[in-house]
This record gives sequence, structure tokens and C-alpha cells, in this order.
Amino acid sequence: MDFAYTYTKEQEEFRQEVRTWLEENIPENMKAPVDRLDLSEEHYTFWRAMHQVLAEKGWLYPTYPKEYGGGGLSGEHETIITEEFERAKVVGDFTQSFIYPTLLVWATEEQKQMFLKPILKAEKVAFQSFTEPNAGSDLASLQSRAVRDGDDWIITGQKTFISGHGDVDYLFGPIVTDPDAPRHRNLGYFMIPCPSEGLELQRLNLLTGHDQSFIFMDNVRVPGDHLIGGETEGWQVAQTTLEIEHGGRGAAFPRDEAMDNLLDYVKNTKRNGEKLGDDPLIQQDAMAAYIDSHIHTLLSWRNYWMYQAREEMTYEGSQQAMYRKVYRMTNADRARNIMGMYSMLGVDEPRAPFEGQPEVYQRSSLTGAHPGGTIEIQKVIIARRIGISRTRERAAATPSTAGVSGV
Ligand SMILES: Cc1cc2nc3c(=O)[nH]c(=O)nc-3n(C[C@H](O)[C@H](O)[C@H](O)COP(=O)(O)OP(=O)(O)OC[C@H]3O[C@@H](n4cnc5c(N)ncnc54)[C@H](O)[C@@H]3O)c2cc1C
Repeated sequence: MDFAYTYTKEQEEFRQEVRTWLEENIPENMKAPVDRLDLSEEHYTFWRAMHQVLAEKGWLYPTYPKEYGGGGLSGEHETIITEEFERAKVVGDFTQSFIYPTLLVWATEEQKQMFLKPILKAEKVAFQSFTEPNAGSDLASLQSRAVRDGDDWIITGQKTFISGHGDVDYLFGPIVTDPDAPRHRNLGYFMIPCPSEGLELQRLNLLTGHDQSFIFMDNVRVPGDHLIGGETEGWQVAQTTLEIEHGGRGAAFPRDEAMDNLLDYVKNTKRNGEKLGDDPLIQQDAMAAYIDSHIHTLLSWRNYWMYQAREEMTYEGSQQAMYRKVYRMTNADRARNIMGMYSMLGVDEPRAPFEGQPEVYQRSSLTGAHPGGTIEIQKVIIARRIGISRTRERAAATPSTAGVSGV
């Protein structure tokens, strides 16, 4: 049986249109750098403006409804756009995209106009603001507090490891609204405007650079209409965000550049006059890496298909997230076995293979194990959903399963 996907003539014409437009409009020096650390202010300014142009064309968020700034296009269009963006080294939107499904499911019509539309049109940027110093894996232990003041809320507390460029318009996430209520019934979900008086953002220097921040909130005033969902429904709203973050939308085009480069290296490198691929130990590692990468691709496609087909998921999202986190670290080990120390030469080193991409992979595979729930937490979720845990849980509502138009 042939599993290869064939596109229609209309779809191939659309691909050509996207490809040509990108070739004509993305200058060579603005393409995504190999190391995200090298994303300059010039890049940032260019891409903030370019994302708005791409949104206007309907290509930035292809499948989201047009009335909220999306493209109103199909899943096939999204696949084509994703492939072409990857090919043209387009820098992704700066908003953490989990907010869109959350707003589609939970926001009122007025809130969709106020938040979803400008964010989907890339005029505003929003970051996911969940983790606190004492609430990571155990998110329900949040301590940041929101207190009613007339129509407004006054928020005090801390968030940490918040990803994104320092320039942000909204921080979205759960905050305690009723400290006396039981767990999971004590939170509200807020869109906190930035900048705000009393809100300070301090950059954190992780292994992969300055893409994370500490957030300090000292009596930050937030308007009442910035609460998404009910006053104590924040846990349920947050579950929609996490459902998507945990792999519940799959991926239209999960390209694995590290894998492509590794195979290229094995095929085209000679050591002591012998082709690297002739060494049986190298073959073993390269093959295992390829199989793991391919399994992840299949899991991503399956989830993407399930999401588009509005199939109810149980463990599938977390299965993909867990597999990705594990195999990327294993493949980083294999890349070190195969490339040796060359896998650790950074982007500025002339001898670095693939312009230093393998070294970036060594770092990002490690930091990537944490965001959106660690490997252990994905296992806990899978156990709950396949019925072998003390507690049972169902997948949270997403635009796909909630029947919202545009997914
Ligand atoms: C690069 C990066 C980007 C991030 N971006 C964001 C962001 O944008 N927004 C945001 O809100 N947060 C973000 N985070 C934070 C991330 O969500 C947390 O790091 C993660 O949820 C784990 O929380 P923790 O670091 O407090 O670890 P802890 O919860 O303290 O866990 C420590 C260790 O104990 C294990 N563990 C904990 N509980 C259990 C259990 N029940 N069973 C088995 N093992 C367990 C964990 O797996 C982990 O290995 C980011 C983190 C990183 C590294």
C-alpha cells in the first residue's frame, strides 16, 4: 500500500503561489538563524511586521476563522504553508499559539474581538504564564492571588520560566481567585495586559538563551472583562490550553532537521578513508535514530488527523509529547556517538557541521524536556486516561471536540 500523500492540482498551484511569494519577500539576511539566540532586534522588528502581512494573506493561522483574523483555509492548506514556511526559514509567530484554541472555546464574543482577533492578526503578542516557583508539575498549587476591586481584579504574585521575547502585550494563565475553595475550583484565567503598573519582567538565561522570564506582579490592576471563563473556572480553561500544548492538535509538518542532518552526515562523511555509514555501530545508531524520529512523525500526523476529523482523543496528545521529549534526548546522544565532538561545535565555528545545528540540538533537546509538562507528567496523564491510575480523567475540550468553527 502506498501511504504517500498526493496533492490536487489546485493545492500544488497554491504551494507554488506561497513559495514564489516567500522567495520574493523574505530577504536572505532575515531568514531564521540556526541558533535562536542569534535572532537580532533587526530580525525581531522585521518579523513582527512580516507576521502581520502573512496574517493578512491568511497564511499565519490558516485554519482559524476569518472573522477573527485567521485564514479560513483547510488542513491541507495548512500542511502546504507549514512545509513552505519551513523551506523558506520563516521565523514563527511570537505568540504562544495555545491561547487561540483556549479563546475559541472559552471567550465571549466580545473577548474574541478584543483578544483573539488582534493576536491572530499578529498585532499583539501573548505568552503563556502558568508556572510559579512552587507550582510546576503540580500546577494546582498556584499561589498568585487575584482579589476583586469593583469591576477589576488586583493581582499579586510571581510566575517563572515564562517563554517568549521580552516584548509582550498579554500574559495568559490561571490565578487563585478563591483561596477557600477546593483545588481545581479556586482559580480564574486572566489575560494580564503588559505593560501594567506593578508588573515587572526579568529575563532568565537558560541553556538555550534569554527566551524565558521571571514575572513579578505587585497589585497589578486587571479589568474585569480580561477574565476568560467563570471566576472559578480557571482550572478548566487552563486544561484546554494544556490539551493543545500536550500534543492534542498534532502537527501538520513535523520536520526533523536534526535527523535529516544526521543521515546526511552518515552518508557523506569519511573517517580514516572509510565511509562513516560502513561502520556497523554507526549504522545501528543512525537507524535507531531514524526509526524513533519516524515514529514521532507518525504520531504527530495521527493526532493532526484526529484533530481535523474532530475525533475525541484520550492519551494520544501526551503520547506524542512524551515520545518527542524522550526521542530528542536519545537522538542527541546518538548524534554525539556518530559525530563525536563535532556535534558540540557552535554556530561560529567554521568546522561545525550544518552551520552548528547539531550543537543547538544538544542544548534544545535538554531544555525541551520541561515545557508543557515533563516526561513523567505526560506518563501520569497517559496512565489516568487509559485507566491504570488512582484517578481517571478525560481530555479537555478543544475547538475540535467542542464543535467550534475553525480549528
Ligand atoms: C525551556 C522552558 C520553557 C518553559 N516555558 C514555559 C512557559 O512559557 N510558560 C510556563 O508557564 N512555564 C514554562 N516552563 C516551565 C515548565 O512548564 C516547568 O518547568 C514544568 O512544568 C516542570 O515544573 P518545575 O520546573 O517546577 O519542576 P517540578 O514540578 O519541580 O518537577 C521536578 C522533577 O520532578 C518530577 N515530578 C514532579 N511531579 C511528579 C510526579 N507526580 N510523578 C513523577 N515525577 C514528578 C518532574 O518530572 C521533574 O523531573 C518552561 C520551562 C522550560 C525549561
